[in-house]
Amino acid sequence: MRSVSIFGATGSVGQNTVSIIQNNPNAFDVHVVSGAQNTEKLAEIAILLNADLAVTSEPSLLDDLQDRLRGTGIAVAAGRDALLAAATEPVDWAISAVVGYAGLEISLAIAKNGGTLALANKESLVCGGALLNETCRQSGTRLLPVDSEHSAIFQALNGENNAHVERIILTGSGGPFLHMPLEEMAHVTPEQAADHPRWSMGKRISIDSASMFNKAMEVIETKEIFGVDEHKIEVVIHPQSIVHSMVGFNDGSIISHMGPADMRFAIGYALFYPDRTDAGIERLDFTQLSQLDFLPADTKRFPAIAIAHDVMRIGGIAGTVFNAAKEQCLDLFLERKIGFLDMSDLVNKTVHAIDNIGNCDADTIDRISKADKWSRSNVLNLVKVSAK
Ligand code: NAD
Ligand code: MG
Repeated sequence: MRSVSIFGATGSVGQNTVSIIQNNPNAFDVHVVSGAQNTEKLAEIAILLNADLAVTSEPSLLDDLQDRLRGTGIAVAAGRDALLAAATEPVDWAISAVVGYAGLEISLAIAKNGGTLALANKESLVCGGALLNETCRQSGTRLLPVDSEHSAIFQALNGENNAHVERIILTGSGGPFLHMPLEEMAHVTPEQAADHPRWSMGKRISIDSASMFNKAMEVIETKEIFGVDEHKIEVVIHPQSIVHSMVGFNDGSIISHMGPADMRFAIGYALFYPDRTDAGIERLDFTQLSQLDFLPADTKRFPAIAIAHDVMRIGGIAGTVFNAAKEQCLDLFLERKIGFLDMSDLVNKTVHAIDNIGNCDADTIDRISKADKWSRSNVLNLVKVSAK
């Protein structure tokens, strides 16, 4: 039996992980499950999987969680420190599926253990890719990507020599606003932006998909996981979301990964690696697919991807600055304080103001955390200035 922990168990990726484990009851021994506000869901998952420990990141919810799990024999803990301590507990396999910057330290804690880190939290790589890779290297931890595009690329590279890779082509659906005129895009609401046409995901990543910030993050994630030069990474719009990404080799061959838009393929692949097991994915019927379209990614409409390339060229702490500005802008958009198109404008300005703090390597949590704070306050200052 493989011992596993699930950080962010109550979220979209987390619950998909839970369902695969639940359907394979004799394969896994569940150690930790974690969540934040939704203690009802967390307790339900802890009982369902018979976990050893349930942790909420909210210190004020300790009593609530304790009440829900009384008499079950499941240990309970609460707060950020408890969560990080739980992430350092060795298991064979742990998934980092917390959303946002909060996931970085959890990924780093898991990466010290020498097991497998299944990484859904892409912010970990964008903010601290070098630090996370080095931590994995030192401990012997295996990092497996849990993002549909990166799982696709990982599978396409299986058994290949990376030196023969000519290009990596990330696909993106184009989100809900692919064909909307720019003037209209300026006025879309958070509800419209969160309504993704293909993938069922958490609210924040769904809005990031509509603005293409998610794809921009994934471009940087690709560079960090696979160690490829930024100019070899391309993005193509593929509205049907059947081709999950492709790798092009120096003989002109392209290897692509296909399947329905269902995250359980990527989670299942990481969970059973190096084996494969049925994770409940619907089978593709090629005779029912009317067509597969591929369109260029319009950087006027979606400037986020161009900003990601700037971030990779600037290097150092730029990934952290980029992510923090993007998270801050998303909060402001959700609070209806800025418009949809303001987000890329504010992120771009903040990334290009990096010299105000002096660029440096993103090699310690201290440096990363300082850059994260500066970037968020820079966005807030820019919004204040423009409101005057
Ligand atoms: P979600 O919002 O559905 O779930 C987030 C989880 O993190 C929840 O369990 C929540 O309780 C927990 N959480 C939130 N804030 C926290 C905090 N401060 N401290 C500790 N825990 C906290 O998010 P999601 O859509 O499942 O995405 C999770 C991660 O996976 C993100 O980084 C996202 O970019 C990535 N990802 C998601 C998908 C998808 O299909 N949803 C696909 C690829 C990658
Ligand atoms: Mg993805």
